[in-house]
Amino acid sequence: MQTDIEIAQSATITPIIEIAKSAGLATHEIEPYGYDKAKIKLDDDVERKTQLGKLILVTSINPTPAGEGKSTVTVGLADALQLAHKKTMIALREPSLGPVMGMKGGATGGGYSQVIPMADINLHFTGDFHALTAAHNMLAATLDNSIYQGNPLNIDPRRILWKRVLDINDRALRHVTIGLGGPTSGVPREDGFDITVASELMAILTLSTNLQDLKNRIKRIVVGYTYDKEPVMVEDLHVAGALTTLLKDAIKPNLVQTLAHTPTIIHGGPFANIAQGTNSVLATKTALKLADYVVTEGGFGADLGGEKFLDVKVPILGKTPDTIVIVATIRALKHHGGVALDDLNTENLEALQVGLENLGRHIQSMQRYGVPVVVAINRFTADTDAEMQTIKAYTQHFNVEAYTSDVWAKGGLGATELAQAVVEKANQVSDFKPLYATEDTAVEKLNKIVQTIYGGQGVELSAKAEKQLLEFAKYGWDKLPIIMAKTQYSLSDNAKKLGAPRDFVIHVREFVPKLGAGFLVALTGSILTMPGLPKHPAAYDIDIDESGTITGLF
Ligand code: ADP
Repeated sequence: MQTDIEIAQSATITPIIEIAKSAGLATHEIEPYGYDKAKIKLDDDVERKTQLGKLILVTSINPTPAGEGKSTVTVGLADALQLAHKKTMIALREPSLGPVMGMKGGATGGGYSQVIPMADINLHFTGDFHALTAAHNMLAATLDNSIYQGNPLNIDPRRILWKRVLDINDRALRHVTIGLGGPTSGVPREDGFDITVASELMAILTLSTNLQDLKNRIKRIVVGYTYDKEPVMVEDLHVAGALTTLLKDAIKPNLVQTLAHTPTIIHGGPFANIAQGTNSVLATKTALKLADYVVTEGGFGADLGGEKFLDVKVPILGKTPDTIVIVATIRALKHHGGVALDDLNTENLEALQVGLENLGRHIQSMQRYGVPVVVAINRFTADTDAEMQTIKAYTQHFNVEAYTSDVWAKGGLGATELAQAVVEKANQVSDFKPLYATEDTAVEKLNKIVQTIYGGQGVELSAKAEKQLLEFAKYGWDKLPIIMAKTQYSLSDNAKKLGAPRDFVIHVREFVPKLGAGFLVALTGSILTMPGLPKHPAAYDIDIDESGTITGLF
């Protein structure tokens, strides 16, 4: 069996101009980045197309180390739709370099369902993340410079929210002291680094609908507080124009292709715990204007990326999904049912039955939105027919069909039935029901998320979080949508509670106002915003030879 990169390297790549043409983009509507990548211009021609295609949201059960293969199914399903002569496009997130060099795992799918040029996309791609890193750190530098230059804004260095970022996993930078070296080197203070994808600028870039919207959102970013505890915003620092200028190309969606040449937009990559976890509004919107079927995904499980897509992205996108596909693997379900990682290749129908409750919870929570749901079982070689049948019988209780997806091994040909079902469901009349209303209080919103999506009892706020909500009410921030920052591994806030736990409460310890992005982040447990490298980083296995051939990148 070839590795992902070997499959990707042996693919015949179609010139990006041809892919653009097949997507309905004229040559003047794209800016080629070499032979196989292009930016799509934000111009009127794409804007003028008003008929939107059908939107298919791919989400999953709670992820486990056994792997779910959401991106693989997303790509394979789109290739299957294309094979069925449906005009299809994909809208995916850009991979972050930190995890690519750290834990094995890119974001371009796998096996025979991949997006290419795989190595480029997983490395520097079209430079969007580097531009974001520069813009983010430019703001940090301006902030410290303002303090150094007499601190006219009265910024309290102990209450600064805006850290620095880097797109590399580097635990040593989580907490740092800056401004050392005497009076000419700034004002000493504690600082820290986040990974680039955790930057609020990433969330903003991916929610912005145009350059002006991007600039307005940047102006509203709260960077910290004054000694009088009043918020300080980017507008006060007068750099929104410069930051938007730095992001003028990063805001444009990137066009690539799958192994089967399905046009694919890959753009933006916000975290699915402390942000909305999905590709940009502009990318999805552009795809919807060009294609009849658009397959997209939300990060982590339906409780995180799924819920955030539906409650935070959809209102800005102005288009609700026509079908939701929930990806599950037999391995991951057995793990939810208590099977150890080493034993997942052995048939175990009892454990599978227990683990299926995790899938059941997600089916119910997604059905609640009034959108048709189908289940895709991402087939691994060790899966047995009896296990497949157990899942298919289980989902019938919810009036939902489960289909085998063999796209990792067979590409689009492995999802013929799934694609047929998706087309059928997507053409039914759906009746989208939002989970909460804008005027609901933060606590009401939180309780709706916990009770309806997670299946828990409700939310409990720390004294600090309660006090913050009172303060936020003064500025009118308390009605913003909520982004729950929670472990992806469990429906609860305890990563060890697998399956479908009940009777749990979600503890919110603190809120972080993200005014530019337009949401309040509710922090539960300890969410790391700068990952570390494992003992054996993926980087140890990556190499390149004299001819430029890369090995070890998955
Ligand atoms: P997710 O989007 O859920 O994080 P990906 O689609 O990125 O998952 O897949 C993660 C890894 O698992 C990839 O390296 C991919 O090649 C592998 N993978 C996915 N599906 C299968 C499968 N059915 N069999 C074997 N490996 C798979």
